[in-house]
Parts: sequence; structure tokens; C-alpha cells
Amino acid sequence: MHFGDQRKVAIVGAGAVGACSAYVMMISGLVSELVLVDINRDRAEGEAMDLAHSASFIKPIKIYAGEYEDCRDADIIVYSAGLSQKPGESRLDLVSSNLGILKKVLPKIIDRDQNSILLMVTNPVDILTYAAIKLMELPPERVIGSGTVLDSSRFRYLISEHCNVEARNIHAYVIGEHGDTEVPVWSLANIAGFSVKDFCSRCGYSSMDIELISSRVRRAAYEVIARKGATFYAVGLAIRRICQSILRDENTILTVSGLLEGQYGIKDVCLSLPSIINRRGRARVLDLPVAKNEEEALRHSAETIKSIQQQVDLSPLELPGESYSRTLPNNVDFPQVPGFH
Ligand code: NAD
Repeated sequence: MHFGDQRKVAIVGAGAVGACSAYVMMISGLVSELVLVDINRDRAEGEAMDLAHSASFIKPIKIYAGEYEDCRDADIIVYSAGLSQKPGESRLDLVSSNLGILKKVLPKIIDRDQNSILLMVTNPVDILTYAAIKLMELPPERVIGSGTVLDSSRFRYLISEHCNVEARNIHAYVIGEHGDTEVPVWSLANIAGFSVKDFCSRCGYSSMDIELISSRVRRAAYEVIARKGATFYAVGLAIRRICQSILRDENTILTVSGLLEGQYGIKDVCLSLPSIINRRGRARVLDLPVAKNEEEALRHSAETIKSIQQQVDLSPLELPGESYSRTLPNNVDFPQVPGFH
């Protein structure tokens, strides 16, 4: 655990997403130590060197390429290792290859009595978040998937464009799978307390095409990947936002993915619902009063993820020679540091 202004984030997988999130974390001044770990050591070293050469333009920060063991004392481990979608591929197509990598890497970076919060980003992120909890028997509150934090931003962006209001003034969530079955919650979307529909009619804007916007949110990654091969800028900022909420104990509401334990009658699966994020991790899950059709769509999302989960082996990994304490301290103390933004 780090004290004072010492905050360490480890990024496993220094590809497009890992490097971009390292970059935004570095320029935000949020962390004092950033270690990049990649199976391709040259890649991690190259990215670390390139980032570190920013030294005279940013707050002091130690940036280096490291080994898996360097994750052991990190406050947050961002996991972005593995394959990404190729044009036309769905996130669920990645499950067997990325689960295979996760099984090899996870025991090297975290164990049950480690205080780090594990932030899963690799796709399919809901299944890999669930896998991380099950494979290592980690406490669910300390394993977070980046989930639909990015999708909610895409949703807000599209509403903001139509309504000519900045995206930060729009309260709208995408819940469920980070993928094809995700659910934009139109019934609760609001701008300064007005429903989106009311806002449009009061301002003289045409009403929004709900189907079109929902589909553009769902298809956003496909559209970007078809044009430039990968998505990384917006997800980099989503990762930084989640890390900031944890490190600064902000109690921010974000649509991260995590284990559901009966919300809407759904359990034993990870998906996204608005959740309070603070130094404990995913401290509280909010089950919103969504419309009936949205609740049904959420259940469909859960069933879709579960049907894939059932096809893979998620029994706890055999970890030779280790005896674990199964209870973790909950009162892990991340310090409040003035002046960090
Ligand atoms: P990338 O190919 O650019 O990078 C992946 C990196 O993982 C590579 O550098 C590779 O060497 C490394 N890697 C592979 N096996 C490893 C291992 N065993 N140990 C350490 N490192 C290993 O891919 P990317 O574009 O950075 O995407 C990474 C993941 O993030 C993908 O699964 C992608 O689908 C996902 N993603 C998630 C979101 C989200 O919102 N959750 C958004 C974008 C991308």
C-alpha cells in the first residue's frame, strides 16, 4: 500500500489500450509510479521510454517496463493484455484465446491476500472479470471490469450532439454486457432533470431516433475498428476515470462491470450497472428503476453472457505451494492527496 502522494498503477498489456491509458494517467498527474508489463518486453520498454521522455512537461512520475511481480504492490492493476477484435469480429469471439492468456498471467500478478484492485479491460470484459474472480477466488468488490463506462460516454456524446448540450450535463447510462446485447437506458436519460424527449420538445429540436442512436452506441467499436483497426483514446480516458475514482476515494457513479448478486433476479454473472466506486473498489451497486422492456433486455444480456461462460472452465486455478487467507482487509486506506486532479 502506498502512502502520501505515492500511488502505483501497473498496466499488464502495453498495447494500444494499455499505452494510451498510461499516457492519460501520466499527463493527469494521478499516479507517482507507472509500470508497464508485456509479454513483448521490447514493446513495454519502448512505450515506457517514450512516456518517460515527457519528464520536463509533467509532474514527476516514475515510469518503467517491469515484470509480472511488479504488480504485487500496485494500488491498481489494469489488465489489458491479449487479443483485440479484428474487423467484423465480436467481443465474445475472443473468449477462448483471452481466457487462456488470463489463466497464465493472473497467478503471476495477484493473489487473494493482495490489496490491489484489479481493473479488467480485455474483452470480452464481462466474462474475463467473472473469470478473474472465480479463477483466483478474489473478493468481488475488488475486481472491476471497465464494462460500459465507455459505452455510456458514447451514449452521452450522441445525445449531446443532438441536443446541443455538453455531454457532462447528460445523465444517461448503458447497462448490461459491454457488447452486442448492451442496454441504453432511455427511460431514465435526462438533461437537467428533463427527459430527453421533453428537452427536445422544449428546445424545438426534432425528437431523437432511439433505435438509431442505440444502434450507433452498440456498433461504435465496430465502426472505429473498421476504419482504424482499434479503439484506444476514449477507453484510455475511461480507465483513467475509474482509476481516479478509486485512488481519490471519490464515490463516483460509473457503469463498471462486476459480479451481480441478485439485482433484478440476476446472479452469478458480471455485467455493468451504475456502481459507486471508491478506494474499496466497487463499493455499491445501484439497481435503477428501469422500464420493463429495459429490464427484460438486461436479463437477455445476462443470459447471453452466461451461455458463453458455461462453455469454458472457470474452476479455481491450482496454485501449488501456497496457503491463502480467504478474507481480505476491507479497510484498505488510500490517502487523500490535495492537488491531484
Ligand atoms: P493490442 O494488441 O494493441 O495489445 C495487447 C497487448 O497484450 C500486446 O502488446 C501483447 O503483447 C500483450 N500481451 C499478450 N499476451 C500477453 C501476456 N501473456 N502477458 C502480457 N502481455 C500480453 O490490443 P489493444 O487494442 O491494446 O486491446 C487490448 C484488449 O482491450 C483487447 O482485448 C481489446 O478488445 C480490449 N478493449 C477493451 C475495451 C473496453 O472498453 N473494455 C476497449 C477497447 C479495447
